[in-house]
Amino acid sequence: MSKIKSVKAECTSCGATGVYSGFCEARGEAVVCLRCSGTGCEVVRYTPFTKRRNRKGIETVSNSRGGFIATGVGAVGASISYSSFKKGEMP
Ligand SMILES: [Zn+2]
Repeated sequence: MSKIKSVKAECTSCGATGVYSGFCEARGEAVVCLRCSGTGCEVVRYTPFTKRRNRKGIETVSNSRGGFIATGVGAVGASISYSSFKKGEMP
């Protein structure tokens, strides 16, 4: 069904340099990057998207207020049925 693929990407911790130099390292000093073991490369694994999946137990769908608790989360506005959403409608 879902086939996992992988791609070689630049290490996100060291910017593909293989070395890290931050607050704990003296000026001019670096340590071997822990994330990539100094290779500068990390393998990213992902599942290519083919189609939207069904989620069990959902009855209605609304728009989201946001993603930060401080500014507000949860549903906002009118909702539609999950079956309408699956047919392509948006709340
Ligand atoms: Zn690295």
